Amino acid sequence: MSACPSAVETPALLPVLGSDVTVPLVTGGEVTYAALDYAASAPALRRVWDDVAAYAPYYGSVHRGAGYLSQLSTDLFESSRKEVAAFLGCREDDQVVFTRSTTDSLNLLAAALPTGTEVFVFETEHHASLLPWERREDTRATYLSAPRSPREAVETLEKALAGRDGGGPALVCVTGASNVTGELWPVRELAGAAHAHGARIVLDAAQLAPHHPVDIAEADVDWVAFSGHKLYAPFGAGVLAGRADWLREASPYLAGGGASRKVARRDDGGVDVEWHTTAARHEAGSPNVIGVYAIASACKALSEAGFDGLVARERQLIAKVREGLAEVPEVRLLSLFGDDAPRVGVLSFVVDGWNSSHFAAALSAEYGIGVRDGLFCAHPLLRTLLDSEPDEPGECGAPEAAPGERALNAIRVSFGAGTPDEHVERFVRAVKELVRDGARWDYRTEDGRCVPVS
Ligand code: PMP
Repeated sequence: MSACPSAVETPALLPVLGSDVTVPLVTGGEVTYAALDYAASAPALRRVWDDVAAYAPYYGSVHRGAGYLSQLSTDLFESSRKEVAAFLGCREDDQVVFTRSTTDSLNLLAAALPTGTEVFVFETEHHASLLPWERREDTRATYLSAPRSPREAVETLEKALAGRDGGGPALVCVTGASNVTGELWPVRELAGAAHAHGARIVLDAAQLAPHHPVDIAEADVDWVAFSGHKLYAPFGAGVLAGRADWLREASPYLAGGGASRKVARRDDGGVDVEWHTTAARHEAGSPNVIGVYAIASACKALSEAGFDGLVARERQLIAKVREGLAEVPEVRLLSLFGDDAPRVGVLSFVVDGWNSSHFAAALSAEYGIGVRDGLFCAHPLLRTLLDSEPDEPGECGAPEAAPGERALNAIRVSFGAGTPDEHVERFVRAVKELVRDGARWDYRTEDGRCVPVS
């Protein structure tokens, strides 16, 4: 008789490139690299790499050739669009526009806003979500203060939307998961508030999509943006998916071939252009078919692996890190919504008596662990979390914050579907040893970075 299967099978690790790469330690010897900076860029899934390698000999121009390989590449490009639409649960009339990244996607949407649009964005956003909205004279941005709970986020937004004048177009921009704290934002509730007040909403899913299913219809958002390089597909493509109307009515993001359907000289010497009304309108130039196919391959791989299992495993890793760090009183985890708030595998912290760059440099040089230190392109959020004026780190090796003092920047550890337990276990052990024994090497500042003295 076979055993009863558990509700969620313990998933295997998804194989990624680089898992057997070794790096030298400053203290001697080599160790396999522990890539714990997934929030910046995740390693490529082996499956993505294999798919790209299998396609590469057949590479050809997209939408631009009569040859067999051009047609094959065009089909691949357009079927990738369908794959991404399915991954995001797009509605029938949504458009999937391929871009370079989340930053590019949000700038495209900002450029496509109807005249007079008022944008509402929390000051806690990543700069890619925070900054694109003030670049036009004919749109306006309102920055909302940092909420200290998901409920406060919804209340703050509702209050701001209720106070807006007139019934003109409005857009809310919100992150799904913070790139600093990893905390999940109440996207569905924020979407409900936005729509109740006649506003639209765009979800910055750069940190959410690699960790959680994102369903545009179920989340009830109007657009979703994400980047391939955080979704295990680091080939330079990104996505903006959602409502077609504003995109169709806007000027093309870039003017050029591919976006134009018909171009003719005018009698007065100028040119008349008829632009596409499909996603091609905003995809001028030869598209990045490899990047796009890589994203589609990653979407397929994640869907087939199943998010239930991926989320369950990631929760185990998060618990390991949190429990380990909780045993070190000098470590303070950064959080907006409270330590127990649901989050993805992204955690930031400061260490009493340590300069964050020094700490991150020692994790790399002495343990072969890659994390990130700094302000994570979210300066206003860091200002709130650290209760200090974020700044460049001080001289390397000099304690930045004595016990009880405020740190100037932070350390971030992040992981995902390709992270073995050993990487987070090594990380926790390294934090404990560094805090207890100090660094075993000397470090100096070079070009603003902390590096081991050679
Ligand atoms: N939004 C969030 C939440 C992010 O974490 C990032 C990248 N750190 C971005 C947007 C920008 O992504 P990209 O650099 O791929 O444009």
